[in-house]
Amino acid sequence: MSFKDTVMSGLAADGGLLLPDEIPDVSDRLADWQKLTYRELATEIIALYSSISSKDAAALVHRSYSAFSEPEVVRMVAVGDLQILELFHGPTLSFKDIALQFLGNLFEALVEERGGELNIVVATSGDTGSAAIHGVRGRENMRIFVLHPHGRVSPSQRRQMTTVSNENVFNVAIDGTFDDCQGIVKSIFTDLPFKTRYSLGAVNSINWARILAQIVYYFFAAFRTMESTGLEGARFVVPTGNFGDIFAGYLARKMGLPVTRLVLATNENDILSRFFESGTYALGEVHTTISPSMDIQVASNFERYLYYRLNGDPAAVGRAMAQFRDSGSMTVERQAGEPVDEWISSGSADTQQTLEVIRSTYKDHGYLLDPHSAVGVHVALSLEGAGEPTICLATAHPAKFSESIGRAVGSKVARHEMLDRLTDMPEQFTVLPSSLVAVRGWIEESLSAG
Ligand SMILES: *Cc1c(COP(=O)(O)O)cnc(C)c1O
Repeated sequence: MSFKDTVMSGLAADGGLLLPDEIPDVSDRLADWQKLTYRELATEIIALYSSISSKDAAALVHRSYSAFSEPEVVRMVAVGDLQILELFHGPTLSFKDIALQFLGNLFEALVEERGGELNIVVATSGDTGSAAIHGVRGRENMRIFVLHPHGRVSPSQRRQMTTVSNENVFNVAIDGTFDDCQGIVKSIFTDLPFKTRYSLGAVNSINWARILAQIVYYFFAAFRTMESTGLEGARFVVPTGNFGDIFAGYLARKMGLPVTRLVLATNENDILSRFFESGTYALGEVHTTISPSMDIQVASNFERYLYYRLNGDPAAVGRAMAQFRDSGSMTVERQAGEPVDEWISSGSADTQQTLEVIRSTYKDHGYLLDPHSAVGVHVALSLEGAGEPTICLATAHPAKFSESIGRAVGSKVARHEMLDRLTDMPEQFTVLPSSLVAVRGWIEESLSAG
């Protein structure tokens, strides 16, 4: 498949996920890349994996990151012995902006090139919806339909979606859970006649373009850290839900970036950390935590990782996924005494530990962590090898989760003027029952209305 078809279709025709057929080795370019700005580096990496020319890639990158408040898109802050990589300086204050601003611009370019239109349908538990809306708002020949669970996203997350007044943005609150929303979206996408008739497209993290955009900050952060420490290589600690973010780091390592270790961090929903400890991927119960974007049991991008873990054998991936679907569990083989993966290790933090690390980091360093980033920092502080450069990914601005921060530090210190401004703005959303028929009818009605 071409890069452009991959982006437009999201999934393979048989429902599997898509990967590049080759991961380029860039070891011999690292010295040159080290000198690049974030935008230059993004241009190189995007051009490398796509049929997009360097000139067009540079224009896309420039448009995508013009809405960020940091000149270098991301920011690195030393907190004690750790390097915090702040990825939340985009328009909705979560790391998802880095990929979704790019994907919005890429979609727009492809729709323009191919003609026709694109209607995006997405389910959200909070951060994805607002980042996707801000990636698509106001664009020609594109609309976005976002399903969130009614009353189950934080007020500030809801306002980031429902106060957007562009005519191509449609919000619906489903009387149900996030899983209900996700189930409805999946059913809509498997109805191929409906999907084709209404030119539907997907922006969830199964879209390869999102992973691609995230590879960039692993290079950028490792280069800056190697420069400041004079040491070769660094390890990354990544708060993880759907395995998209850490998978981008895995590919960066495969491309030849000297990543000494990838450390996966989960909250109480620890299916992934249990896998990297035991080799068994086994479904557990979903727990509601203060880091809701990581309250996930089945990680959609895990299948991509499994392809490499099973030596690039797609049939073996199919068998393992089928076994997991049927029995709720599957196990990978390994030699006695060998780790499950030579590059990835894992850890987790429960709610108490997360609150405690937010409190101690604020007290000792005056630095506020959001609950997702705090899960990573808790795991980072328990690692051996104190002298090893350690980069912790910070995935959201603390103000997005000000209530949990308040619980940890005892006062309302986590604020952001962008969120404060939304409190008095009018909101627009439709409430619908948790029903495929109702949501389909609503999409058809909204499209025929204009
Ligand atoms: C989405 C999200 C995550 C999890 O990222 P994955 O790519 O799903 O592993 C972590 N933190 C925040 C704030 C998020 O929005």
